[in-house]
Amino acid sequence: MILPITQFGDPILRKRCRTVSEVTEEIRTLTEDMIETMHEAHGVGLAAPQVGQDLRLAVVDVSHDPDCVSVLKVNGEEAEVADIMPLVFINPRFEKGGARERMEEGCLSIQEIRAEVQRPEMVKGTFPQLDGSELELETDGLLARIIQHETDHLNGVLFIDRVSAATKLMLRRELKRLKG
Ligand SMILES: [Zn+2]
Repeated sequence: MILPITQFGDPILRKRCRTVSEVTEEIRTLTEDMIETMHEAHGVGLAAPQVGQDLRLAVVDVSHDPDCVSVLKVNGEEAEVADIMPLVFINPRFEKGGARERMEEGCLSIQEIRAEVQRPEMVKGTFPQLDGSELELETDGLLARIIQHETDHLNGVLFIDRVSAATKLMLRRELKRLKG
C-alpha cells in the first residue's frame, strides 16, 4: 500500500523516534508499505517518521546504482550492493568515520529543496533485521550517505539542519514558506 509522505512542518519529523521493541506483523506490513512508497516516489531512502510513524525503522534502496560504493562489507565479507537491497533496518547502531565529504541531498519530505551537506564518508555498525538477525555493515559512498540521512530522521534531524550557515540563510525564506 502506498502511504502518504509526511511533509516539512509536520511535528513528527522533529521527534526522536521510539525504539522498535518487537517485530510484529504490523511492523512487517509497515516495512513493505514503506518500500513500496519509496519506490513509487523514486526515492532512495525512507524513514518511518516520513510516513507518520514514530519508530526507529528505515528502508533504503540503491540497487539502481550498483557502483555507488567503493567499500561494502557485510558481516565482514565483501558484498555487492544488490545482495542487500532493499535494505531494511531497525534500531541501527553505527559509527561514522573517514574524511568529511560534500554531496547534494534531497528529501521526500522537503521536495522543493536540494542542498550540499557535509558528512563523514564511512559508516560501520550493526543494523538489526526484521528476522532478528543483525547485519554488520561497513560501507561508504552514496549508501553511507543515505544511511546517515535516514538515521538522522529517526532522531528528528533533517538534512537542512546540516547545511552550511550561508546555505541556511539562503533557504530560510523558502523553508518558512513550506512550513506554512
Ligand atoms: Zn529525508
